Amino acid sequence: MKFRRLKLSGFKSFVEPSELRIERGLTGVVGPNGCGKSNLLEAIRWVMGEGSPKSLRGGGMEDVIFAGTAARPARDFAEVTLLIERSKEEAGEDAGETEVTRRIERGAGSAYRLNGNDVRAKDVALLFADAATGAHSPALVSQGKIGQVIAAKPTDRRQMLEEAAGISGLHQRRKDAESK
Ligand code: ATP
Ligand code: MG
Repeated sequence: MKFRRLKLSGFKSFVEPSELRIERGLTGVVGPNGCGKSNLLEAIRWVMGEGSPKSLRGGGMEDVIFAGTAARPARDFAEVTLLIERSKEEAGEDAGETEVTRRIERGAGSAYRLNGNDVRAKDVALLFADAATGAHSPALVSQGKIGQVIAAKPTDRRQMLEEAAGISGLHQRRKDAESK
């Protein structure tokens, strides 16, 4: 799975619709302190289904919505779209480009879309779990994360390894099957 494009609107400091093309190879984001570099990584985690406001440095999930400044009013919603590309081996007949969108409105919670069609949070989580990535993927290393990994409990560290190995999607499906 390749990330191709990230679109943000009303997400944290990205108040105006913004688009970031993710080219082949290494992408670097540089800028002064507080310009929004970490917010970009958080947007990627958020659109993949991050459920913990704390790990997005917020108190509640609506804290991802642009909160306004002295010069600009707050927004009512935040929306992030990640354009991904999957190979035939990964996705069979769904191979090619897929747009994953998450939107949150004040008082209305989050909604997800795949290529414009409404889907459940779970569908998005499984899509990324099968590709050995996702909101908790060890491939996404937030500021301060290295220290957390070192201090993690063995069970938490095992979960990180399972996510890296791409088997956490299987565990979720087994759990679902057992509860039916
Ligand atoms: P550093 O180099 O210090 O790590 P950074 O480039 O990673 O900085 P971020 O932490 O991504 O910067 O951005 C922080 C900025 O985002 C702060 O100015 C903060 O006010 C702003 N911000 C975060 N959430 C919101 C929000 N909901 N509404 C408006 N601005 C927000
Ligand atoms: Mg930062």
